[in-house]
Amino acid sequence: MRSLVASLPVCALILASATPASASDCPNNPNALGVSRVLEIDTSAGPRFGTLQYKQTLDLGPKEVVLTFDDGPHYQNTKRVLAALSRECVKATFFTVGTMVQNNSEALQAIADEGHTIGAHSWSHPRNLARMSAARSVTQIERGFRAIDAAVDIKIAPFFRFPGLNDSNALNAYAAKRGYAVFSTDISSDDWLGIGPRAIVRRTMARLHRKQRGIILFHDTKGTTAAALPALLRALKRGGYKIVHIVPKNSYVEVKAANTDNEPGEESAIAALPFSAKGPGNTKVPASASP
Ligand SMILES: [Zn+2]
Repeated sequence: MRSLVASLPVCALILASATPASASDCPNNPNALGVSRVLEIDTSAGPRFGTLQYKQTLDLGPKEVVLTFDDGPHYQNTKRVLAALSRECVKATFFTVGTMVQNNSEALQAIADEGHTIGAHSWSHPRNLARMSAARSVTQIERGFRAIDAAVDIKIAPFFRFPGLNDSNALNAYAAKRGYAVFSTDISSDDWLGIGPRAIVRRTMARLHRKQRGIILFHDTKGTTAAALPALLRALKRGGYKIVHIVPKNSYVEVKAANTDNEPGEESAIAALPFSAKGPGNTKVPASASP
């Protein structure tokens, strides 16, 4: 007989733990949105989340939303985003970039100090890792994780988002072997398209009303996103949406296999990878959702 565990879908590996709604505990804001629950994610099997690209997403209930921010930390706008989140006592996940962390380590530490989750979004955000050599793409992933983890006084999450959401079968297999959860998204805010704060709120809420739940993708590098966020969080509250804070079951662990800082030294590391050929991704990212 097949074991129950073996027959469970990937999303069932996520453990949910209820926490008291924190809105009532929010300083100076009794009507805050707050965090409704914390969702612990077991990344050991390399799950992938986000219906824009994958079959499965986070195990969210009706009206449950996960906030994610890419491309930072930014010297100015990340702090504006953090202030807006703090005002409503909500927690988010930041997919940060290694080179941005180098220049803005104070903002990265501020993300950690506020209790948000930190994941990685590559070393220098090349447009499409799937079109690079295996060696270079793996370096982008590992060097990013290592630099971000070293720049902050907490252990970061083994959560990864591909730049431009451009994955590949090979790189997804690599991420799974490393125990990284790969995050796409369910709802794009379109904030990377140069639209204004009102349009960001309108588009995000319209998509959310249709889907009723999901991961939302923003960019904390954008001033328009920082400007939109207070109104967006109020709209979520008005609409009866609930914020879920995702945290990893286990933290990121540095790869021991190779020196991935230096591209000429990567070849030996690549031999150990679980793929033999590079190539385009299995997943077509809609042009309108490629941040
Ligand atoms: Zn990005």
